[in-house]
Amino acid sequence: MRSLFVATGNRHKVTEIRALLGAGFTVLSQGDTNARLDIRESADTFAGNALIKAVNWSAYLGTDCCDLNVEAVLADDSGLEVDALGGAPGVHSARFAAPDGAPEGNSSDGENNAKLLRLLNGVPDERRTARFRCVLALVPVMPGTDAECLVKAARFFEGTCPGRIRRDGAGRAGFGYDPLFIPDGHSESFAELGEETKNQLSHRGRAIAAMRAQLG
Ligand code: IMP
Repeated sequence: MRSLFVATGNRHKVTEIRALLGAGFTVLSQGDTNARLDIRESADTFAGNALIKAVNWSAYLGTDCCDLNVEAVLADDSGLEVDALGGAPGVHSARFAAPDGAPEGNSSDGENNAKLLRLLNGVPDERRTARFRCVLALVPVMPGTDAECLVKAARFFEGTCPGRIRRDGAGRAGFGYDPLFIPDGHSESFAELGEETKNQLSHRGRAIAAMRAQLG
């Protein structure tokens, strides 16, 4: 049995990752500790931000302050890339609707989706192509190890899911941009397709599959 700490406060991501990893893994997350780390996701790539989250949590979990016993930290950084917007919102997906210069903090899914639909107003169907991208950083927990060594020990796994953006939201499952995103080969949004089908197609599902293939 392998044990992982999923470094996210997003309970939807935790639910999906737990289902994707299945019975061979014990999955803990921020909900299992009172610790809250003040982590700035300051990189301009998904991999960079996933690494920041994984290394900070690994360093914390390797200290005496923490009694969670896990082998490694898994951090997911992900987002939506819309071709007609030059790849936006990309790494800014979680706080897309926050005004420039606003203090740190995510905007609500409703505000983000409304902004996306506003920016795509008038864009024809054939130009509403997009993809979800997920990069996972896996960093071992090694007590007494400095951040530089943790960075060197990091492994990355990536998954993408191509699709297109609807003209309005549909469906109630999932989170984030799921009501607006129709994966290629389907006519319903992720939020209409539901968790099981989403997990078979999604960027996160593909990144976890890549990780499992390498970990054996
Ligand atoms: P992160 O937590 O900084 O990686 O931000 C991820 C953001 O990207 C989320 O808040 C959502 O807005 C969006 N996102 C990532 N993955 C998904 C997904 O599976 N469905 C819908 N939105 C997603």
